[in-house]
Parts: sequence; C-alpha cells; structure tokens
Amino acid sequence: MRNPSYDILFEPLAIGPLTAKNRFYQVPHCNGGGYRDPSAVAAMRGIKSEGGWGVIFTEQTEMHQTSEITPFIELRLWEDADIPSLRRMSDAMKSHGALAGIQLAYSGINGPNLYTKEIPLAPSALPIRTFTNDPVQARAMDKSDIKNLRRWFVNAAKRCKIAGFDLICLYGAHGFGVFQHFLSRATNQRTDEYGGTLENRARFVNEVIADIRDAVGDTMAITLRVSLDETIGDLGFSNAEVHDFIAMNKDLPDLWDLAHGTWEDCSGPSRFKEEAAQELLVKGIRDLTSKPVVGVGRFTSPDVMARLIRQGVLDFIGCARPSIADPFLPRKIDEGREDDIRECIGCNICITGDMTMSVSRCTQNPTFMEEWRRGWHPEKIAEKGASENVLVIGSGPAGLEAARALSLRGYDVALAEAKESFGGRVARERLLPGLSAWGRVMDYRLYQLSQRPNVQMYPGSELGVEEVLEFGFQNICIATGSVWRADGVARQHVVPMPVRGNLPVFTPDDIMNGRLPTGRVVLFDDDHYYMGGVLAERLAQAGCEVVLTTPCAYVSDWTRNTLEQAAIHRRLIEAGVKILLNTGITEIRADGVETNCVYTDARKVFEANALVMVASRQANDGLYHQLRARQADWADAGINSVQLIGDAAAPGPIAWAVFAGHRYARELDTGVWTEEWGDTLSFRREVTALSPEQ
Ligand code: ADP
Ligand code: SF4
Repeated sequence: MRNPSYDILFEPLAIGPLTAKNRFYQVPHCNGGGYRDPSAVAAMRGIKSEGGWGVIFTEQTEMHQTSEITPFIELRLWEDADIPSLRRMSDAMKSHGALAGIQLAYSGINGPNLYTKEIPLAPSALPIRTFTNDPVQARAMDKSDIKNLRRWFVNAAKRCKIAGFDLICLYGAHGFGVFQHFLSRATNQRTDEYGGTLENRARFVNEVIADIRDAVGDTMAITLRVSLDETIGDLGFSNAEVHDFIAMNKDLPDLWDLAHGTWEDCSGPSRFKEEAAQELLVKGIRDLTSKPVVGVGRFTSPDVMARLIRQGVLDFIGCARPSIADPFLPRKIDEGREDDIRECIGCNICITGDMTMSVSRCTQNPTFMEEWRRGWHPEKIAEKGASENVLVIGSGPAGLEAARALSLRGYDVALAEAKESFGGRVARERLLPGLSAWGRVMDYRLYQLSQRPNVQMYPGSELGVEEVLEFGFQNICIATGSVWRADGVARQHVVPMPVRGNLPVFTPDDIMNGRLPTGRVVLFDDDHYYMGGVLAERLAQAGCEVVLTTPCAYVSDWTRNTLEQAAIHRRLIEAGVKILLNTGITEIRADGVETNCVYTDARKVFEANALVMVASRQANDGLYHQLRARQADWADAGINSVQLIGDAAAPGPIAWAVFAGHRYARELDTGVWTEEWGDTLSFRREVTALSPEQ
C-alpha cells in the first residue's frame, strides 16, 4: 500500500499536448553505450518503463553531422538510417506507459568534430571548450549558417517523430548545447540581432522552438534544458540571468528542464554535494512560468520529492543517477516498499562509463547496461539450479551481493564473516571524510538479507580450510577481499620500493583501523583513485602536516572520470595539504624519503616523520588456494564448486566487487563456470553491419 503522503508524486500532469502519468522524470543521462550499443541502451530504458517512470529520456543525441563529441559515445540522428535504432529505444520507453523523450544536442563550441572532420559552428569563433582541450576552433555562424541550423533542427524533429518519440528536449545546459552558447555572453559575442541584449541572445532558441512547433508541435512536446548557472561569473549565463530569461520567455517551451550548472555540479558526487543541492538556485522559477518545471538533485528520498512538489519548487522529480541505481524507484514508492529502494550512493562510477567510452556500470545496480547484454533484470532472477546451498565467505560488497542474489534464487545461503560486523571494506571506508553515503552499499544489502528466511549470517567467524571442508556446503564462494600493500608495489615500483631506513610506514588499512601517523607525513599516491585524496584530507583533519606526492600530473587522477578531480584538488588546498605532482618516491630513508621528478629523474630528499603508502592491494586469496590444493577431498566433503570473487580475485573499485558477487549468483549452476572456459562470448554485443558496397 502506498503511503498517502506520496500520492502527490503519482498525480498525472500535462506537458504540452501530452500527459505524463506521474511525476517521476528520468532526465537524459549517458551510459557509455550510445550508438555503439543501441539494443543494450534500449533495453536499459525499457526496464525504467517497467519500473514506473512517467517520462524517460535518451542521452544526448547528436542531431547533425556538423556537431559531434567524439571520442564520447552518445546517440546520433544524422540521417534516416539512424531512425530504426531510435525507434527501438522509444518503443522500449513506452512499453509500460512512459512518455518517450529524446534530447537533441547541437554541441557547437563543445564539439570538436574529430570523426566527421566538419568545421565546428558556434555563435562566436572561439576554441572548442571540452574536457580534452582539442586544438580545434569553431567558426562563427553567419546568417545563412543560422538559417541552416534552424532547418537542421526541424529535420531532426521530424525524424524524432518518425522514430516514435513524444518529447523533444533541446539541450542548452552544462555548457554542452548551442542554446546555452547563444544565451551566454561568454560564448556569444555577436553584435548582430543574435547577440548583445538578453532578448537578442534568446532569439535563436525562440526561433528554433517556433520552427519545431510548426513542424511537429501538434503531437509532440518541446522541453528546454538550461543550466541554473553557468558558474563562470557575471559574463556567463548566471542564475540571475536565467531567472530574467525565463521571466521574459515564460511559456516558451512546454516544460522547463533545469540542470544545476556545469556537469560536475549537476552530477555532483555525494562527497561534495548533498541531495537536493540545487534547491536554492531553482526556487522561485516555477512562479515565473505557467509551464511545468523539472529539476534534479540525486533524489532518493520520497519525503524530499513530495516536499519539493508540495512546496511548489518543482512539478517533476528529475532523476538520472537515482534511476540508474534503482530503475524501480517509482514502483517501490507506489507499492509502499520504500525500504527496498536501492539508493544511489553518489559515487559517479556510472559516469566513468561515458568518460572512458566503455559501457557504464553502477555500484549499486550491477544489472545496469547488462539488461540486454546478459539478460539481467534488476528485480528478477532465475530460480536456483541443481544444487541447494552456498557458503559465502566474506561480507564485503562482493559477498553481500552474492548472498543477496543467491537467496533470491532460492539457495540456502550461509554468510561467514571474520569480523564482528558485516560490510567489509565499505564498513570502514564509509567512515572516511565525505564517503558516508557509500555505506548504502552495505545498508541496502544487509536489510535485504535480514528479510530472507533462507540466509544465515555468521559474524566473528574466520574460516580456515578445515572448517570449510567440514561444513558440507555444496558451493563455496570466497569473497575474502584484499589488503593494502605496505611495500610500495604499484605502478612506479613493480617490485618493492627500496628501503634504506626505518621511517614508519602506514597503509590505508592502518589509518582506517585508527593507527594514525603524527607530524609531517608524506602520502605517496600511486593508486590514483579516491583513497589518496581522502586520506590526505583525513590526516589533515587529524592535525598532520600532509604532503601528497604522486607520479601523476593530477591529484586523484582517475577521479577525472567521476567528475570529482577539481573538487578534490580544491578541498586539499583548503585543508592545507601540500601537493607535489609528477613526483615519485625512489627510496624510504630513516628521516624521510627520496623523491624523483618523473620527467628528469632529478632526486631530492624530503624530510618526514612518516610515509603513508597508497599503492596497490594484495588479494586475500590464501583460503582459496588452500582449498584448491585439497581438491581431492572435495567430493567427500560434498563440495561441487569453489570460486574466488571480488577483491579476493583482483582488487578493484566497489562497483567491480558488487558486479562480481552478482555475476557469481546469476551463473551458479548454469554450467558457465568450468575449468575450461572462455571459448564463447559471455555477453551479447552488436556488430556493425557491413555495407553491401566493396
Ligand atoms: P570485496 O570488496 O571483494 O567484497 P572486502 O575486503 O570488502 O572484499 O571484504 C572481504 C571480507 O572478508 C572482510 O570483511 C574480511 O573480514 C572477510 N574475510 C576475509 N577472510 C575471511 C575468512 N577466512 N573467513 C571469513 N571472513 C573473511
Ligand atoms: Fe549512483 Fe554510483 Fe550508481 Fe552512479 S554508479 S547511479 S552514482 S550508485
């Protein structure tokens, strides 16, 4: 039964000529698959329809050959040949009654056109503004270019209609869409009727919306996505100007889609941004217009969602990441199952799929982007196979997810954990600065396990090989995790770092266990994800004088893929951490370390009281290998299978461990795992069809 205070979230609302069945609005989001994996993306959107979303959007769709953002993989709508794959997408979106939306992007000053080799067109001639600093500049559009671009939008809109979409979102947010480029004085320095005053800068978007409305507006709704603040000071499209623009053009689109600022702001990670972080910027905008307003804010709490609608801040609850972590979020609220919501942890691993041009993962939802590739459904799982029971050893993210999914399949599951409390690495990492929301990985799973009658939990149970052989479980899943290495082996050093003195060395495990250094501390980060930066912050808070040394050109280099890097560097500066980039460590001495410049190998002695080694991790795979060595005893012990998963197999991010646990549970008793494996592909993929011409 639905909680009546959430009824407001299920009231239908008109968007132009159409009506959304409820207020759950999946705003456009990337997935790393795009045009390369159309069936995988379509199935992912289809699951959201099943999960109850009222409106579902595509990711950005490049609508003309003169503007694309290679190497990033989004959707394309350049010619009629692109329509069938988009039709598959809209069909999937509408399969359970959602409105299907497509986001049309003309990237202008943001698109380097590395693939099409066309000259980028923009309101003003400036260098391309994107992550990759491509040595490419845009040509300023003349009047005939603007006329052409208006027609190209109409062509694209007509194709969207043929492809079965209900809504077109014009992208003018995050610095990525041409509408923002016209609206902002930073990127629009024109002196004709398209530049100068706000009215002039708004001319282009007014013209395009009128053109599209003429062409398809009788059956389709047009939404406009703008950022609430360009965040580059007064020259940019500031929050004050956004208010003015909406006040002047209040009924321009059929819905205002308000993004936060830059993409980094809009997809702000939990380490730096709370739920509903854009509330202050969005407040008051709804009073300026008679059209509905959607906004985002990593919403996972139905109370916050209902409040924002009740207070008249928003009409629709916009979600990207919360819809990835739990595509069934609306249905769970509708069915009074709020406790079952798999809340987004705000880690931005999903975004790394786009940034690395691979295919996205989600820490909380291992089925994301595997709906078609592996046939994984986030809420359904096949019944168990021939065997009856599983002993899962280790309760980190891998073991917890394996136990959860195995129990849903109907296996009798025993989960043994050496420590007195469950959660593995997550139980410790959630206590580090800014990472408390990551605890949801264990909270969700422990709650789900507590609801299952076929799961037995054994804390304080460090198992050895004899016990495992004695217990008589048919399947043994070893998820015993990993430990941080103290010897410096990682990338700079593939063998232990030379030691010429007894400087105290600490690992991340030491610090998480409460063993902290004092005084002047050198932190060596050759891991390059979050741990080095987080520990530097932790040690600064504890009063240490921290010097972070990394062979990379960036602090926490890999977090550029999670959109956190700039915020991390800023926070470390504010915390008083001294940062040495492009600097390795060549030897540990009694009074400090010897550093080297990664370019010149120039050496320096750096005095310190301690060294914190954030290098790599060593898998806890001893139990697995001992069991393998006793394979002759397995049959007597009733053991069918022994498998090593998660960090114990190969240390990686939490998302990797969750995926491994889920995969183990899905594949148990399916015959996939044999000694000889890998002769066939383990997932489906789409192979580009060859053109008939030679
Ligand atoms: P992952 O990320 O792969 O899930 P974690 O390091 O988070 O790995 O968790 C591994 C867990 O396994 C830890 O909580 C650890 O205490 C537990 N563990 C390690 N060895 C054993 C063992 N022999 N018996 C029971 N639990 C173990
Ligand atoms: Fe949320 Fe992380 Fe999943 Fe992205 S990967 S949806 S941020 S839990």
